[in-house]
Amino acid sequence: MIEKSIKELIAYAVKHLYLSSEDKVFFENVLRHHFDVENTYDGEIDDLSIENLGSPEEIAKSLLDDLMSEGKSEEEAKRHISFAFGIVSPRPSQVITGFESLRKKDSEVALMFLKQIETFANYFKEIEYDDILFEETLDNGMTLMFFGNAKEEKEAISNGYPKCPLCYENIGLYGDDNHESGMTLRSVPIIVADEKWYLKFVSNPYFNDHFICFKDEHVTYQTDKMTFHRLLDFVTRFQSLFAGSDSERVPGSEHEYIEGGSEPLPIFSSKDKEVLFESERGTRVSKLNYHLSALRIKGTEKEDMMNVGDAILKAWKGYDNGVIDPKNNRVISYARKVDYEYELLLVLCPSKESEVGLLEAAGLFAFSRREMSNNEDLKQKALKSLEEATAFKNNDEEQEAFDSFVLGALTKGHAA
Ligand SMILES: [Zn+2]
Repeated sequence: MIEKSIKELIAYAVKHLYLSSEDKVFFENVLRHHFDVENTYDGEIDDLSIENLGSPEEIAKSLLDDLMSEGKSEEEAKRHISFAFGIVSPRPSQVITGFESLRKKDSEVALMFLKQIETFANYFKEIEYDDILFEETLDNGMTLMFFGNAKEEKEAISNGYPKCPLCYENIGLYGDDNHESGMTLRSVPIIVADEKWYLKFVSNPYFNDHFICFKDEHVTYQTDKMTFHRLLDFVTRFQSLFAGSDSERVPGSEHEYIEGGSEPLPIFSSKDKEVLFESERGTRVSKLNYHLSALRIKGTEKEDMMNVGDAILKAWKGYDNGVIDPKNNRVISYARKVDYEYELLLVLCPSKESEVGLLEAAGLFAFSRREMSNNEDLKQKALKSLEEATAFKNNDEEQEAFDSFVLGALTKGHAA
């Protein structure tokens, strides 16, 4: 009965979404109008069990059942549910004020606050890992994790507003067949490398606290020194999170963003094979024992690390061995802070149209339900795409070329 579900949603919002009791009747009437319900529910609702709810699932489920029993499609019903949750959730400005005042004292508490709002507003869902198909550790120690529910990527159709699915203007959008609802979205502005960006958590099954941080303007972009600056600045501000960027993959988003989470990806735990270079300011560059051509830049001085990263990036974008086309060379980068040291990981890829993106290069593969064959086939498929994304193959000759590429880049491009 939808009038009962509305009343339960209102009670839920009072308990979990900072809705003032004074606003209960107001919002109940707004929702009754939206759902075209004449009456109000006069029976009892179970306040105590609503208070004990740890997620919005039950409330959303009963609304979904009500709406679908009225003949609405699932997609349509879900948009109505987003509307209902969005309208009883705190206004964007209230979330921003709350986040900002917490962040000044403790950025970790501020992140928890944002995640809590996004969770109870039914925007973000914490993962439960029930979708890991299997894990595979390769000879070199690299772990590949396979997941079984790659999101069916809808092709983004833009009619000009919002310009893309990342743009801030998605907030409050009712949504339609081409646009996801933005009713429950609550991005908060943060400063990253002296620029205005927005931060939100997103539901993905691959790791905890998956966030996306996007620029306030809809601008196309490329990987450059500023990318490393942003990543290192982000992990300075939010030390429990790692951040990564894969800007130049085609077809990519045309809106600049970085993403990451709280659990270090498999690439972070790969061991150094050898240290190739150390700068005067103590920044070390080592080659990783890894399936792809990857480097770890480690140090305490961010500016020096950015310069080192930039020298490698520039050299890689001009690297021409006669076999690969330097126009397609791209770098996927990740950063995190561990104690007092920063880590900047660079994966050199010889292709922009590769299936290997930010997650795959870090060791996470997702497959949609329809392509799930047996584990061995999936593993072979992953290995093949990694192979294609490997800049320097794992043989003596190419590994020597890799070493001299790194040394050449750093002795030419960086004042060692
Ligand atoms: Zn955009």
